[in-house]
Amino acid sequence: MTATTFATNAPGSDIAEPTATDKRVLLLKPRGFCAGVVRAIDIVKIALETFGAPIYVRKEIVHNRFVVDELAAKGAIFVDDIDQVPSGMRVIYSAHGVSPAVREQSKERKLKVIDATCPLVTKVHVEAIKFAKQGYSLILIGHRDHDEIEGTLGEAPDVTQVVSSVEEVQTLQVPDPEHVAYLTQTTLSLDEARDIIQALKDKFPKIAGPHSQDICYATENRQTAVKNVAHQADLVLVVGSNNSSNSNRLVEVSQNLSTRSYLIENSRAIDSVWLDGVSTVAVTAGASAPEVLVEDVVAYLKDRGFGSVEEVEVMPENVRFGLPPEIVQAIQSAPGTTPATV
Ligand code: SF4
Repeated sequence: MTATTFATNAPGSDIAEPTATDKRVLLLKPRGFCAGVVRAIDIVKIALETFGAPIYVRKEIVHNRFVVDELAAKGAIFVDDIDQVPSGMRVIYSAHGVSPAVREQSKERKLKVIDATCPLVTKVHVEAIKFAKQGYSLILIGHRDHDEIEGTLGEAPDVTQVVSSVEEVQTLQVPDPEHVAYLTQTTLSLDEARDIIQALKDKFPKIAGPHSQDICYATENRQTAVKNVAHQADLVLVVGSNNSSNSNRLVEVSQNLSTRSYLIENSRAIDSVWLDGVSTVAVTAGASAPEVLVEDVVAYLKDRGFGSVEEVEVMPENVRFGLPPEIVQAIQSAPGTTPATV
């Protein structure tokens, strides 16, 4: 899905130039939580309220330390592997998805599974299964150490190779160069993915791809917002965790446009030296970063003389995902309980 409507403060519009006495913050929109993250967090909250603690969660439900700590305080137990979940207990899969091997392990341990995989990650899994069944060699563009790639790769490990750069495309070997397909991680840099896909098309002219791009709407919209506003700022601060792929990409997008940018967990991560000589700071947040951390950063900047805060809406974003059937059924079969507000 691609939003293309640009609102009032798009480039070339009427954002006032700063004066020496008028240091300002440009607050990018859309920023922060995407529909997949909202859904995943809701699932954990509802499960905790409906079934009570403990609820096990495989891996970080979303890649944000603040979110994970908050849910852990409510009784969620985060584990790296399914074998850390006691037999018969309830486990939630993270928004990044899991491989069939993990599903099998859960079955063997008789776990009650609630799947919080983002529907847009599931879409990529379905494509991987389809291409593998049709006999394609599959090239998965993404970061090998990311939870999402681990899950997607697991759908067809024997026929899938992961590439993360144009250089790696050059060394690829496949049994039949006429029968190759590619898919991508949902949270890549649009520009980098485009270059890698072009390199694949040059090497395998008949390569097949997904019907619609795998990079998700939230990743695309947040990168587009940075692209449209970075040139008006001296500094771009991206609120997000180090292991958040889409947050790291936002920093890169800004740096590629020659605007200095840092990824910060919260205001405590800001080095005040960064603000020397800066009159305009753009602030955005990765798809897993809560708004409370953005507010914390804006308050820090206000305290340091950035008195004007202007929200710059580059495009509207109104995506919501429904809850998975297992959580809907759980709510229905637990009368008298009041689920968390979703
Ligand atoms: S960043 Fe995209 S793919 Fe990931 S959870 Fe959000 S909407 Fe889903």
